[in-house]
Formats: sequence, C-alpha cells, structure tokens
Amino acid sequence: MQETFRKTDQYVMKTYNRYPVSFVKGEGCWLYDSQGKKYLDMLAGIAVCNLGHCHPRVSEAICQQAKTLIHTSNLFHIEPQAELAELICKNSFGDKVFFCNSGAEANEGALKLARRYGTEKNLEKYEIVAFRQSFHGRTMAAVTVTGQGKYSDGFGPMLPGVKFAEFNNIDSVKEVISEKTAGIIVEPIQGEGGVIPASKEFLEELRQIADEFDAVLIFDEVQTGIGRTGELFAYQHYGVEPDVMTLAKALGNGVPIGAIVAKGEAAEVLKPGLHASTFGGNFLATRAGVEVMRIMTEPGFLDRVKEKGIYLKNRLEELVSQFPRLLERVRGVGMMLGIVCKFPCSNIVASALDKGLIINCTAGNILRFLPPLTIEKEEIDYGVKILKEVLREYAAE
Ligand SMILES: *Cc1c(COP(=O)(O)O)cnc(C)c1O
Repeated sequence: MQETFRKTDQYVMKTYNRYPVSFVKGEGCWLYDSQGKKYLDMLAGIAVCNLGHCHPRVSEAICQQAKTLIHTSNLFHIEPQAELAELICKNSFGDKVFFCNSGAEANEGALKLARRYGTEKNLEKYEIVAFRQSFHGRTMAAVTVTGQGKYSDGFGPMLPGVKFAEFNNIDSVKEVISEKTAGIIVEPIQGEGGVIPASKEFLEELRQIADEFDAVLIFDEVQTGIGRTGELFAYQHYGVEPDVMTLAKALGNGVPIGAIVAKGEAAEVLKPGLHASTFGGNFLATRAGVEVMRIMTEPGFLDRVKEKGIYLKNRLEELVSQFPRLLERVRGVGMMLGIVCKFPCSNIVASALDKGLIINCTAGNILRFLPPLTIEKEEIDYGVKILKEVLREYAAE
C-alpha cells in the first residue's frame, strides 16, 4: 500500500484528497484492503456500484464481452447499445438515447441539445436556467450550470447565458425565465448540494413553466437514477416527466458510461453530425449497462430497495434521536439519504473509515449514505452500530 501512496503522490495530479486506504478486492457491500481488513461500503463508489461490487452477473457479462469484442466506433451498429437504448426507453418516459462516458459529458450534451432546440426557433433563445447548490459535473458547461462557486472559481469566464434560481422556489424561476430560455436543468434530488429533495409542487411548476416558455426541461439523474431512490428514476416518484434526462454513475455498475434520454421533439434535435463520442455506447460499456438494467427491472427488485431504504432511514432516525445535540434530522429518498449534522462532519467520516465503515460528508455537514441497493438489513445494522460508536466517542469529547 505504501508504494501505491508514494507513486500516487509523485505521479498523479493532486486533484483529490485521498484517504490513506487502497482496496484490493470487492464483493457485494464489502471492500478489502491489502492487509485483509474489511470495510462495509455504504457509499458504493459514490452511487456507482448500485448492484454491489463485482456483481456476478455483471462481471460475467463484462468478461464475456471483453473476450468477444470491446470497441468498433459508432460508424457501425452495436448490438448491446441498441439493446440498452431499448431497455432504457421501455422503462422510462424516453423515446431515444445518446450514449457517452460520464455524467458531466451527458449534461454537456443535454445543454447542447437544449441550445440547439432553442436556437433553431430563434437565435436569441439560448439561455439556460440552473439552480444554486446544484452539481452537474466538471467540464466547462457542466461547471457553468453548477451553482456552487467553489467549482468554477478561477476557471472563468463561464458560458454566457446561464441564469441561476433558488431550488424549491418557483418565484425565483419566474424572475429569470423568459422567451430566451432554451432549457432548465435541475436535479430531482440535489446530491452534492446536501441530499435535498425537490418538492412535488416545485417540479410540477417547473414542468408547467418550461412548457409555457417552450424550454427543454432537463432532469440530471446522474446520481438519482438507476434504482437509487427505490424507483428506476427519481422523476417517477414525482409523476413529472422531463423532456431530457441525463444518466451515468450506476448505469454500468462501475464501467464508465453516460446517457442522454429524450422524448418527443427533444429526441429529434441531435441529427447526424451534430453530436458524437468515440467511446460512447461501445460494446463493453453497454453490455454492462444491459445486465444492470435487466437485474433492476426484475420483478420485486425495486420493492426490496424501497423496503430496505425505509429500514435504513428508520435506523438513521434512531441515531438522530439518540444524539440530539449532534444530529438534526434525516432526509432523502430510498437509498439516497443524508443526516443533517449540527457541525462539520468530515471527522465522523474519517473515524468511521478507521472502524471499517465507508460513508461520505457532503456540503460540509451532511453525512451521506448511498449504499449498494443490494445491502441486507444485517449489513445496515452493522453500519449503524459502527456509526453509533463513532458518534458516542464524538459526543464524549
Ligand atoms: C456525479 C454527478 C455528475 C458528474 O458525473 P461525472 O461522471 O463525475 O462527470 C453530474 N451530476 C450529478 C447530479 C452527479 O451526482
């Protein structure tokens, strides 16, 4: 492990504050380091390994595909890409899909789609409405619509024509939207911003106002998608359909893949030559995606996610009532949960890691839980027990 730390330090750009841990093996909800110490993973590689580490069916599919054909480019038809597009459309509002390689790239493409949609009607119709505290990724357009200064400071000038409104506040949207608006981009549940669900009324009103101004409504479901919230996609909880939805993180259960899903007029905007990706939708990534979608759409899978999500939420709420001086409340949907702490919580995360529990701190004071959706109740109990020990020590200090 020491050798890995040294080489990382010397040769890898220091863009991450890494913990001094390196894993060598994963199985289900468990990760193992080179010393054989095991960790319960309640973060799933940040909402990526929704089916757990090395799910046998996904790993088998990847191995088989890797031995058969990995990449040919989009100059040719790709069987698993067609299959995955069908699976996504048949299980969502979507009519058509474009494949890329990451969340930022999916959002980048969705914003291009919205601009093209707008400017084909009127050259002035290129503005985007985005939200404060949002997170959409690190490329230039994605970082422009990300409503947190720390991600864009020093990288200016940002893309022109982006207006920010307050999340869950439709009046603030009315202040910035106009005939010049081409698109609205929003996370149904803000993830990095602190696990903050949109209210049903807010998304309903966004839908209405997007229609009124003929703007493309984009839901960034990069984190909330692929079963995370107990529905395949978070919009399904709200009964509000966007025109465009972006996916990435869990779609390949760890193999890099992103997707733009669109319906109606929005699905026809990107015509031949207007957008492309060399790797996007290649055999390896989409074969993984097909297996993920098949597993998630099996009868009963999402019911169990919902049930265990409620169990996890209840267990976390118990902690809140046991430590009222430290913890405020639990929020989130399904297996996307956060505990609002009354203090910065990065120390809690580090102590938990020490004791073999992987969780995360976001927005400074939110303990975030994004476990594999396959986690069992006994494993949830194990994680809660560790967290309780950490909180007890913290409370005693
Ligand atoms: C993680 C995330 C992204 C960025 O995805 P990358 O694959 O890291 O580019 C975008 N939007 C949301 C909501 C995310 O959680």
